[in-house]
Amino acid sequence: MTDQLSFKNSKQSELEELDKKHYLHPTTIPKTHVNQGPKLTFSEGEGIYVKDLNGEKYIDGLSMLWNVNLGHGQQELAEAAKEQMSKLAFSSSFAGYSNEPAVRLAEKLASMAPGDLNSIFYTSGGSEANDTAFKLSRFYWTLKGKPEKTKIIGIKQAYHGVTIAAQTATSIPLFHEFSGSKISEVFHANSHLTNCERGDKSDPNYEGCIRDIVEKEGADTIAAVIIEPVQGSGGVHVPPEGYLEAVRDLCDEYGILFIADEVICGFGRTGTMFGVENWDVVPDLMSVAKGISSGYSQLGGVLIKESIRDVLVRYDQVLAHGFTYSGHPTACAVALKNIEILERDQIVANTKNMEHELKAGFEYLKAKHPTVTKTRALGLLAGFELYADRDKGIPFDSSIHPSAEVVEECFKRKLILRALSSNVGRNIVAIAPPLIINKQQMDDMINIIDDSITVFEKKFC
Ligand code: PLP
Repeated sequence: MTDQLSFKNSKQSELEELDKKHYLHPTTIPKTHVNQGPKLTFSEGEGIYVKDLNGEKYIDGLSMLWNVNLGHGQQELAEAAKEQMSKLAFSSSFAGYSNEPAVRLAEKLASMAPGDLNSIFYTSGGSEANDTAFKLSRFYWTLKGKPEKTKIIGIKQAYHGVTIAAQTATSIPLFHEFSGSKISEVFHANSHLTNCERGDKSDPNYEGCIRDIVEKEGADTIAAVIIEPVQGSGGVHVPPEGYLEAVRDLCDEYGILFIADEVICGFGRTGTMFGVENWDVVPDLMSVAKGISSGYSQLGGVLIKESIRDVLVRYDQVLAHGFTYSGHPTACAVALKNIEILERDQIVANTKNMEHELKAGFEYLKAKHPTVTKTRALGLLAGFELYADRDKGIPFDSSIHPSAEVVEECFKRKLILRALSSNVGRNIVAIAPPLIINKQQMDDMINIIDDSITVFEKKFC
């Protein structure tokens, strides 16, 4: 063993021990972690690749947490952070104080966002953004003289984050089981039922759709509906044609605010700058985070439509909401640079082109592997499912977790993906590489997935 390698190995062992002892990880099985240590300790990255402490190179097929849109090791973003940190790393946004990057970013977002979403309330991430959207919705209705409009409707399979209000709106049961505390007055409607939302009461699925909940609870008690344009962690579900428009119309009909959770979809992920632009829909409030800075700085926010802002700015007392890092100058400077690069390098167009490559890859996988079905991709937000008999819709036995198996095989081949669950078990593989990916790299990813499914099918079919 060379000296360099043994040094790396000893560093890895040291870090693993310290990690096991001192670091409680999010969304990780604690018992496994303290026994086995971290799966991998990242140390550097470039483009779509990341390396571990031993220099092993992996393709980051999920942009880490769907957020590293411009890829790793982007020096211009690092420079933007350094420049701003050297000048003014942090300043308060409370009590009327302001800073240039926060203002410039607010103006830039207003110019890019759909419709008249012309102002922003900054947060440090997506959960805080959704909590803020709920609070602003309720506060707006209070200012309009309707304080009883407090309820929030989300849809099933939604993920909106883990702060208590966002977690309550999240409808993945795992997150509720962890912590019993939920806020009241949040409903989970059946998802993606266009006809029902248009008012077709003869539809057998009508009960439990958003419209049904609105009618039963009374529109005068409902503040807002929150929806991810494309659901991410709940399984990568693209809504059927006309669905978001139907919900927009429903909200208008009943006087309910429409919150789009663009935390994953925003900033190019779905092949348009914002997810809702794939449809003819402008939300009233829009939560953003993740891709706003490609994960280089912790930043989120809620974009606010002009008519709502007009009501909020008439308030003549303290707006009692805000985070220490709201409008963080360094985070905002990084986000400004991130958006500049997204536009300059035509990353959204690349995302659309690579969506076509990925879909071609899916066709190849479906033709070769009888277990692969329900492939979907909007931009580079994509996934597929694995079934024992795809034609008859028969899932694998519940003792088998097909997507976890395939994702593990991919990991052995140095591709990082994510296994998600559907209502028939853990059978969804999610794919969301950095938006800078090229055709050769996409082919490499498909080849690894192909080999991994081959191994899986040999073992379980
Ligand atoms: N909303 C969506 C759609 C998300 O995917 C996430 C995180 O994955 C969140 C909200 C929460 O964001 P954060 O983890 O930054 O609080």
